[in-house]
Amino acid sequence: MDRTDIHIERITQKLKLRRQQILEFLKRLDDEVQELDTDSAQDIADRSVLSMSKESLFDRTSQQRIVLRMVEGALGRISDGSFGVCANCGDDIAPQRLEALPWTPYCLRCQENLEDEGRYPLIGTSFTDDSFTRGG
Ligand SMILES: [Zn+2]
Repeated sequence: MDRTDIHIERITQKLKLRRQQILEFLKRLDDEVQELDTDSAQDIADRSVLSMSKESLFDRTSQQRIVLRMVEGALGRISDGSFGVCANCGDDIAPQRLEALPWTPYCLRCQENLEDEGRYPLIGTSFTDDSFTRGG
């Protein structure tokens, strides 16, 4: 790959940092779930609250796991040289998109198509550190 328009080193750092953050987040959630389990000898009302908070924990966890997989995929693409190329159509992904969402495997157009078909994991904007530039 020869793309001088993207800062691979900075993006690699960003991805590694994100992976670290997610792993710590997941570990913290695991601990929380275990605490919920130990406290579970409560009355029924409390238990339904518990199962609700467990569900929301699970949602948060599964979202983070999706991002983690994408981050690891991106790191893999950096090492095999295919980073920055859309996994769907093969076009270059816009550099500002890669800066904002370095783990994305798709160009904006393909992501939007996949979202329309419900095949792209819808993850909240809270996962982007920067304002996401829709210029791709
Ligand atoms: Zn594409």
